[in-house]
Amino acid sequence: VSNPVPAMPRYVRVNTLKISFVEALRSLQEVSHEVEQDNLIPDLLVLPAGTDLHKHPLVLQGSLLLQGKASCMPAQALAPVPGWEVLDACAAPGNKTVQLAALMKGQGRVIACEVNENRVKRLRETVCLAGASNVEVWHQDFLRIDPTLPEFAKVKGILLDPSCSGSGTSVQRLDHLLPSAAEGRSEDELEKQRVEQLARFQQTALLHALSFPAVERVVYSTCSIHQRENEDVVRFVLPQAIAQGFQLASPFPSWPHRGLPVFDGAHHLLRTDPSRDNMDGFFVALFVQNAMGVDELC
Ligand code: SAM
Repeated sequence: VSNPVPAMPRYVRVNTLKISFVEALRSLQEVSHEVEQDNLIPDLLVLPAGTDLHKHPLVLQGSLLLQGKASCMPAQALAPVPGWEVLDACAAPGNKTVQLAALMKGQGRVIACEVNENRVKRLRETVCLAGASNVEVWHQDFLRIDPTLPEFAKVKGILLDPSCSGSGTSVQRLDHLLPSAAEGRSEDELEKQRVEQLARFQQTALLHALSFPAVERVVYSTCSIHQRENEDVVRFVLPQAIAQGFQLASPFPSWPHRGLPVFDGAHHLLRTDPSRDNMDGFFVALFVQNAMGVDELC
């Protein structure tokens, strides 16, 4: 039986907190002659599909991360400046947390918030292995954080990558190819309810992120392909966001696949599609404070 979805290339993000891009490139050229720099994410290298790097010494020591291209987009879209204070609201296992730290060249402060105790352990391990010394791990429910506390007074960027259905990830891609179960209908109904519950949490969390007093940039991302968790969440919060002085900006403006056209401004949103783009399905929305001058940001 032929596979209808082509195999994804092996993406590797260089952790510039530990190794230079050139050094990492040279090292991976010893593994494959076909290694090249990604055309969108500067610190990302692309190798042929199936290249097994799980036991590569640079991966084991945290200098290289096996992070997919779509998963690299949200932190890159936030574009935190070295020296900023940034909050990663739903952080474990921490791939995007340490990417933020690297983009900030280890300067400034990244607060990484995670509600689940076991996942906090994973997060701490990721941060430690990556050598991200400007990251503080908080075992905390993001929704219970009081944005008016003095410790959040300087938070300029927030990455919100909350729990989602995961419908854009590879495991789910395979699930979609399976014939429906006999009890498919009730399973569909349960899935619909689960997505609705997640979307309500996502809306609440996004409104909470937008309420931090000094925040200038907020990225909302999911690894879902469902409109309910993506465009509908943004559409729901948009009136409140605009009232607070935010507007949507276009992350990666050259990326051809934008949000589903279900409201004015959805062209600012970014989608990746598993079958079309040969990567996981992700969604990215970028809110910026009007005063920032949207044109110069992207
Ligand atoms: N950004 C992570 C990364 O790239 O490695 C992946 C985040 S994962 C999609 C969502 C995470 O949010 C889960 O670890 C989940 O436990 C956490 N989470 C869910 N609700 C939360 C809440 N209210 N406060 C903080 N973390 C929460």
